[in-house]
Amino acid sequence: MTSIPVAQPSLGHKELRNLTSCVKSSWISSQGQFIDRFESEFAHFCSTKYSVSTSNGTTALHLALLAIGIKKGDEVILPALTFVSCANTVAYAGASPVFVDIDESTWTIDPDLIEKQITKKTKAIMAVHLYGYPAQMDRLKQIANKHHLFLIEDAAEAHGAEFQHKRVGGIGQIGCFSFYGNKIITTGEGGMIVTNDQTLAKKITILKNHGSTSKGNYFHPVLGYNYRMTNIQAAIGLAQLQRINAFLRARKKIDGLYRKLLSTTTGIVLPPEDTEIKKGVCWTFSLRINQSFGKSAKEVRQYLQKKSIETRPFFVPLHKLPMYQSNDHFPIAERISSEGLSLPTFVGLSVKKIHFIAHEIGQARKA
Ligand SMILES: *Cc1c(COP(=O)(O)O)cnc(C)c1O
Repeated sequence: MTSIPVAQPSLGHKELRNLTSCVKSSWISSQGQFIDRFESEFAHFCSTKYSVSTSNGTTALHLALLAIGIKKGDEVILPALTFVSCANTVAYAGASPVFVDIDESTWTIDPDLIEKQITKKTKAIMAVHLYGYPAQMDRLKQIANKHHLFLIEDAAEAHGAEFQHKRVGGIGQIGCFSFYGNKIITTGEGGMIVTNDQTLAKKITILKNHGSTSKGNYFHPVLGYNYRMTNIQAAIGLAQLQRINAFLRARKKIDGLYRKLLSTTTGIVLPPEDTEIKKGVCWTFSLRINQSFGKSAKEVRQYLQKKSIETRPFFVPLHKLPMYQSNDHFPIAERISSEGLSLPTFVGLSVKKIHFIAHEIGQARKA
């Protein structure tokens, strides 16, 4: 039995053609036509005026925080359940991450719990569209506006997801994306920042280029970084972006089939559903295994592993990591994290394999 991976990129002749053209042109470093085109087409995809490519999603978040002036002594509010980068980038900027529990129905930061965490030091809210399911951007925008806070979106898992008919990433002041190998589209490693604010876009461009304001004069007025994407990465990224609508349709089908096959299984809680105002993208089809299933998420994972089906547990809540350890309790984040399981989700996963995976989840109960 060949094993079923949890994720796998879809790379084809378009990517290969762009790569060949990139190598032949000799523009393989961080300038070139693929970078320009990937950036402008990505801005178009998000309906934003500006976009800046970066070396990965983490550096995108770091640059976003620096661009809005996050510094030592500041606080940034973010969900307790997300990838570690979200808190790490706040720490890189010298500021403190302040965690807020997630909402049981959306799996994203709970807007009702944010205001009591706001202090004089709070500068920004980082919304995360976890596993491709959009955060409640209308409520978050209201809170951010009321308290004069920046609203940053971590859309690393949610390329193409929508809230009130707007693509995520382009809703707050700054949106950050990742193109890691398992993301909706990939450049191997890579990231992108989108914004409608020209001043922020300019700042980000300077910061990611060693703090240089003009090319080749070695004058660096600010502390900068080398967080650039290469033309090679962008060559792949552009091809991927031109295929993204087909990718999103394929993922919707996978999502629909998993939901259909698993909806009647006792003890399985399906992921947040699309509504009139929000549309997710099924980055990883993720579900919860609760007590009435009779086996824990961990036991189900181990069973599926024996059947050569690779899965992932959910993120560990950030307040449970040594760097951010606290005695605070975030009961929803803790429970969803312990019950969570992400199933194989990638373009090219066959209907037959989805049936097999759903069947084996049922079998796991009896094992
Ligand atoms: C993948 C991811 C990142 C980081 O992106 P990298 O490109 O791996 O640095 C940040 N936030 C979330 C939610 C992610 O899933």
